[in-house]
Amino acid sequence: AEEFLRKMDKIDVVGQLAAGVAHEIRNPVTSIKGFVQLLRRDQWKSEYFDIMLAEFHQLESILREFVFLTQQRSHQFESQNLAQLLRSVTQVAQEEAPAHQMVLEIDDVEETCLWCDQSQIRQVFIHLLSNAVESMPDGGTIRIRALRSGHDQVMIQIVDKGCGMSEERLKRLGEPFYSTKEKGTGLGLMITYKIIQYHDGYIHFSSAPNQGTKVEVYLPLNRPTDTA
Ligand code: ADP
Repeated sequence: AEEFLRKMDKIDVVGQLAAGVAHEIRNPVTSIKGFVQLLRRDQWKSEYFDIMLAEFHQLESILREFVFLTQQRSHQFESQNLAQLLRSVTQVAQEEAPAHQMVLEIDDVEETCLWCDQSQIRQVFIHLLSNAVESMPDGGTIRIRALRSGHDQVMIQIVDKGCGMSEERLKRLGEPFYSTKEKGTGLGLMITYKIIQYHDGYIHFSSAPNQGTKVEVYLPLNRPTDTA
């Protein structure tokens, strides 16, 4: 929990974010500028357009995630059936990653409801599943399991057999712009941490290089007063 709080402190450092955004945006912008200059000198090749489009795509993902972070959104909390939400998220992820196999197991939580902002919690699981997919570039099985944890919590486990992470990498998860991927933004887990914190839950990673990764998300159940 201490480490979690330390991460939250980091997340609130706006200056760090601004510096990060500037840095992340500079590379694609410099690249696009270079290609525009080439085009202007009539030295054009069709692949320049592809590279420029890819750079724009990268800029778009950074901006989309950044806008999400800075938005002062009013949160729409409602009671949401967990099993239903996980089925739908798993289906979406499966359609986007046909080379992978998603196996969902709902243990003793078929009727369990969460008090949550549905679209944010969906985003958390979509993101964790896409990280699992990206850790296994040649495909493979991703296991998702939901079960009770004590009397007032659920735990959702996502297990991949992908590239895994070293201790040092594990420690840096959730840090803004920490990414080991060529086209990564390093904002996804930061947003994920923030959403889970907002829901009074917590997230825990265990991993080892080349052994895969296990993510455990703990979320509180529907408040008893809601059903009383
Ligand atoms: P991004 O996916 O854009 O890199 P994230 O914040 O989602 O940003 O993740 C940060 C980093 O954490 C990734 O670049 C990767 O190194 C590591 N990571 C996250 N999930 C996994 C996973 N399931 N397996 C291996 N590495 C992971």
